[in-house]
Amino acid sequence: MTVEATAAPEVAEPEQAWRPSLSPSRAADFKTCPLLYRFRTVDRLPERPTPDQARGTLVHAVLERLFDIPAPERTPERARALIEPEWARLVAERAELAGLFSADAATTSDTATTTDAAPTADALGTADAPAPADTQTPADTQAPLGAPTPVAAPTPVAAPTPVAAPTPVAAPTPVAAPTPVAAPTPVAAPAAEAPSAAGEGTPDPGVELLDGNPVDRDAFLASARELLSGYFAVEDPRRLSPAEREYLVTTEIDLGDGSADPAAARLLLRGYIDRLDASADGELRVVDYKTGGAPREAFEARALFQLKFYALVLWRARGVAPRVLRLLYLKDTEICDYHPEVDELIRFERTLVALWSAIEKATAQRDFRPKPSRLCGWCSHQARCPAYGGTPPPFPERAAPVAEPEPQPAIGVDG
Ligand code: SF4
Repeated sequence: MTVEATAAPEVAEPEQAWRPSLSPSRAADFKTCPLLYRFRTVDRLPERPTPDQARGTLVHAVLERLFDIPAPERTPERARALIEPEWARLVAERAELAGLFSADAATTSDTATTTDAAPTADALGTADAPAPADTQTPADTQAPLGAPTPVAAPTPVAAPTPVAAPTPVAAPTPVAAPTPVAAPTPVAAPAAEAPSAAGEGTPDPGVELLDGNPVDRDAFLASARELLSGYFAVEDPRRLSPAEREYLVTTEIDLGDGSADPAAARLLLRGYIDRLDASADGELRVVDYKTGGAPREAFEARALFQLKFYALVLWRARGVAPRVLRLLYLKDTEICDYHPEVDELIRFERTLVALWSAIEKATAQRDFRPKPSRLCGWCSHQARCPAYGGTPPPFPERAAPVAEPEPQPAIGVDG
């Protein structure tokens, strides 16, 4: 994904009462490629998770569970010990994951063969309810939200480089031809945890691949352990007390289109934040784990778009803009911080309103055009895409724009 693994149920489900709504994943889909948006949100074509996506789901689940453990015990060993039980839980709950490896399929019997009825693509993340807010610890107040969290003691690492001043805000992005999002400020990776040797499309060292995917369950779980090592190279969870994990945020913004229907005049924004940190004085930091094997540069603009989406929703819902938007690249063992300004969020809100207008127009005209890019390499729908010689399915007969499925914690190739 994003070409994220979307997944929408193929089976007919009760039509939801329509109202304008956007999640960051679907908004990013439309920006990336209108036809991709159509396949996922209008046609709701199923997408089978790849091992890469499943690994992202697993690592996100482990990192969420890790903060259930008392802070002093959040060690790499305890985190690695969560991998097997979390994978077993995910496989038991999600039939599409059980089909990835024969060892899992053998233990999950009749649920392992389901494919078309798989949850929608976004549903690859854990569906657990957000954990209750934790109490701030002294450690949190010692580390400003804008600064990298010191790394766990057992792993010798170089001191993180202080984050640079906020990057100048980019001009509003036109919907038709988005401009690249301003680059975030990278934080130096610790020297003792060198970035993975894997480059574009190349596997993790030591993991045998088949068609780009781990061959077996053991290799898959080993690659998840490697990502967790990357996490501990950039953060020390013993010093953190997240305010929220897998946190659903929602707000409504005015579409300003003069609609007589009050529900249609407001755009519902909603999405899941991997982690929300809060300082004692109320400053917020949005944290997004990036676990994908896809080249980071291919997805960074999309990742920042999603973070700005969360920042806007938090600002509108709480009246406080996050001080830091943080991307944690577990494979590259790198942190990228971005400092949003309120003026930028106001412009971003206008961008979303324009984006929704473009979606409505495309829906009314049944005109979702392909927009080929390097991200096509992670798209599950090339066989149906005219840019690759395919033919889309007939446009679904619906009277109004399709309501987005309820968002789930989003995890994808770039997630
Ligand atoms: S293959 Fe590329 S152009 Fe075609 S639908 Fe997928 S992302 Fe869009």
